[in-house]
Amino acid sequence: MTSYSIAAIPGDGIGGEVISAGVDVLHALAAKDGSFSLTVEPFAWGADYYLEHGEMMPSDGLEILKGYDAIYFGSAGDPRIPDHITLWQLRLKICQGFGQYANVRPTRVLPGVDCPLKGVGPGDFDWVIVRENSEGEYAGVGGRAHQGFDQEVGMDVSVFTRAGVERIHRFALDLARSRPRKLLTMVTKSNAQRHGMVMWDEIFDRVKADFPDVKTDRMLVDAMTTRMVLDPKSLDTIVATNLHADILSDLAAALSGSLGIAPTANLRPEKDFPSMFEPIHGSAFDIMGKGIANPIGSFWSASLMLDHLGEHTAARRLMTAIERVTGAGSIMPRDLGGEATTKEVAEAVINAIRTSNE
Ligand code: ATP
Repeated sequence: MTSYSIAAIPGDGIGGEVISAGVDVLHALAAKDGSFSLTVEPFAWGADYYLEHGEMMPSDGLEILKGYDAIYFGSAGDPRIPDHITLWQLRLKICQGFGQYANVRPTRVLPGVDCPLKGVGPGDFDWVIVRENSEGEYAGVGGRAHQGFDQEVGMDVSVFTRAGVERIHRFALDLARSRPRKLLTMVTKSNAQRHGMVMWDEIFDRVKADFPDVKTDRMLVDAMTTRMVLDPKSLDTIVATNLHADILSDLAAALSGSLGIAPTANLRPEKDFPSMFEPIHGSAFDIMGKGIANPIGSFWSASLMLDHLGEHTAARRLMTAIERVTGAGSIMPRDLGGEATTKEVAEAVINAIRTSNE
C-alpha cells in the first residue's frame, strides 16, 4: 500500500475549520480506496504563532516541510498583523522557497450552484487559470526611501526572467494540450508595460511554436475581465502573470458562484520539493468560529492534491462526491444559499464518498 505524508497548515481565521473538514474527507477517501494511506501532521503556524514568536513559522520551517509529500494549507491573514507580514512570512515563503512556480486554479460552475451571469450554468464553462507563482510583481524587489518626508518614495519592481517566463508558458501549453479543447489564452499588458511584459509576449510566441496542436490567443488583462464576464464559453486554459492571474482568479471564483468553492494548487512540477494545495479564499474573520465556512474550496484543493500524488481515482471520486452533494441541493453551505454548517457539508460529502460506485 502506498503511504503519503501530508503537512497540514490550517493557518488563520476559517483555515482551521475548512482544513479539519478536508482532512476528514481525505481519510474517508483513503478508507474507500484501500490502496493508499495518509498520515497528516498538523503545524500550528500563522498569526498566533507570530504573536508568540515574532515569526509566522519557525526559521527551519522549510527544512521541516521538505520531507512531506504535499502541504495542505488553510489561509493566512489576521487583523492584528499587517497583511504583507502574514503573506510573505508563510504562504509566499513556502511557494518561493520550494520553487512552486505554477499556480493552477480550475474554475467551473458546479451542479446546483447559481452562476451570477445571466443564462450561464453548470457545464457552460470549464477554465484553468495558470498563474506564474515565483516572480513578476511578487518578486519582492523594491524599497522605500525618505520615509516620513515629503519626497518619500515607494517602489515595487516586477521581475521577469527568461527562465521563469519560459517555464510557465511551457507548463500552460502542456496543460492546455492535455485538455479536450487544446486552447490557451495568454494574458498580457505589453501595451503599457514595455519591458518585462514585451519579453513575456516574445517568449510565449517562441515556446508556442513547439505546440502546433494547441490553439492560442492573446488578451490584454483589462479586456480579459470583460471577456470572462461576457463570453465565458470562449475560454479554456489561461496563463497570466502573478498579479494579473491573482486578480482574474478572484473574478473567476465569483463567477463560479462563490469564493468558498475555488481551489488552488501551488505546483512544483519537478516534484523535488513538495507542492502546496489551498482554497483560494482568505481567513474570512467575519465568519470565523461560527462553523459556517464553506469547505468545498478546501475539498476541491484536496482533489488537486490527490491528482498530483497520482491518486487519480480518489481525486475523481472526491469531485463526483462534491457534485452529488451540490447537485442534490438539500445540504448547501450559506454562501451558496443554503443553511448547512461546515460539518454538515463535510458529512454529506463523506457519505457520498462511502456510497460511491466509482
Ligand atoms: P484575507 O485578508 O485573508 O484574504 P479576507 O477576509 O479579506 O481574507 P476572504 O477570506 O478571501 O477575504 O473572503 C472575503 C469574504 O468572502 C469573507 O469575508 C467571507 O464573508 C466570504 N468567504 C470567503 N471564504 C468563504 C468560505 N469558505 N465560506 C463562506 N464565505 C466565505
